[in-house]
Amino acid sequence: MASLLQSDTQLNRNSYYEASVVRPAPLAPLQTDLSADVVVVGAGFAGLSAAIELAQRGYRVVVLEADRVCSGASGRNGGQTIVGFASGQGPFEQQLGAVRARQAWDMSLEAIDLIDQRIAQFEIDCDRVHGYLYVADSARKARALESEMQSLQRNYGFATEWAQGAAVQNHIGSTRYQACAYEKHSGHLHPLKYGLGLARAAGSLGVQIFECSAVTGLERGATVTARTAQGQVCARYAVLAGNCTLPVFGPLVAPELSTRAMPVGTYIIGTRALAPDVAAALLPRNAAVCDNNFILDYFRQSADLRMLFGGRVSYTTRTPADLKQTMAQRMAAVFPALQGVPVDYVWGGFVDISMNRAPDFGRLGSNVYYLQGFSGHGVALTGLAGQLVAQAVAGEAERFDVFSALKHRNFPGGALLRTPTLVLGTLYHRLRDHF
Ligand SMILES: Cc1cc2nc3c(=O)[nH]c(=O)nc-3n(C[C@H](O)[C@H](O)[C@H](O)COP(=O)(O)OP(=O)(O)OC[C@H]3O[C@@H](n4cnc5c(N)ncnc54)[C@H](O)[C@@H]3O)c2cc1C
Repeated sequence: MASLLQSDTQLNRNSYYEASVVRPAPLAPLQTDLSADVVVVGAGFAGLSAAIELAQRGYRVVVLEADRVCSGASGRNGGQTIVGFASGQGPFEQQLGAVRARQAWDMSLEAIDLIDQRIAQFEIDCDRVHGYLYVADSARKARALESEMQSLQRNYGFATEWAQGAAVQNHIGSTRYQACAYEKHSGHLHPLKYGLGLARAAGSLGVQIFECSAVTGLERGATVTARTAQGQVCARYAVLAGNCTLPVFGPLVAPELSTRAMPVGTYIIGTRALAPDVAAALLPRNAAVCDNNFILDYFRQSADLRMLFGGRVSYTTRTPADLKQTMAQRMAAVFPALQGVPVDYVWGGFVDISMNRAPDFGRLGSNVYYLQGFSGHGVALTGLAGQLVAQAVAGEAERFDVFSALKHRNFPGGALLRTPTLVLGTLYHRLRDHF
């Protein structure tokens, strides 16, 4: 676990996002004893969203962040705001039936609208763009994509523009793909600008945020007490939104959660800014793009016309060797025109995957809520998750319970052996990506 933290910290040192914002002065760590209605652990999108929603309902909220605001996955991701779930609708339909699967789908659309509402309400300048392209790089993957899009249209009325063969190049300047589907609901943004905007919004609503304040212990009961090195917060409710590093900073905070989610490394490179005509030729609609391989490539352009190209994964906590070079090769395989274009940034982080890739929201006892398992699909869903948890705290748990009703399994092998087990399982899928 210590090595997870080490490589996680190292992975944020050369991030395009950190280089393209001016962070406000650090917020002081907690150095006293406080009481609040709700203590939130983690100032990523999920924790900040919960804090905003709770404060808007009149709760006194304290957020405790181990590092800096959005220093975790929320400040580092591909910025892709995507409808639906990493799992697809399968676990919802199979476990909860058509009506609640529909509710979950509709809420995933709301999650995107919530981002736009917050950008407007709190005047967050974060390079927001709408437009999303799903691409398939083989005949088999094209059939799978078409079938998925047809099922979304049939069951949920979700329409996409379908293209195949030469028509794909109206959407993307690459000959790699056999088919694609375009839609305008999903899109992209600069995640760190957005996250810092959420923190500002939370502050303006009276939320107290403490940075460098890792919660190392959580006493549960009618009152919960979250302890940090130099202080504590007593509250009626706690919201655990610590993602992959929760078990690292606070192994005793909620040990029962750690085997239900697993950290998987994923990485992004940022090129030097491209000439406007080159950028427009590669992504004429300025969409965010993702393929449907098991090991995904996901990419988009930044507002200053860099290609931000994400992919690769690591199931160990070690950062892959030659990351910059291998990522640049992957990018050039999609866009040969980018061969040799300087890569200015390389960074990455850990996504918290659940066994079935559906989000894992629930309660420990009656007053400790947790939000995890976004499985690489959390930019939009974290906002919704925060809203649902605030509704549940306020006694309107119906929407939260659509998600908490989902059953999640522990990773086989427990905390120690889950990594080798997952590696073996994914080798099979990785091989299938090539056929
Ligand atoms: C490289 C990368 C690319 C990604 N790309 C996409 C994408 O394009 N689209 C998409 O939808 N999703 C993407 N994701 C996933 C998405 O970023 C996450 O699902 C989402 O940001 C999770 O938000 P969070 O608030 O749950 O966690 P985080 O943002 O990780 O926040 C958790 C916070 O809790 C703090 N913390 C942990 N333990 C403690 C403790 N004990 N005490 C106090 N604080 C604690 C951490 O320091 C951290 O700041 C990507 C993730 C990565 C890493």
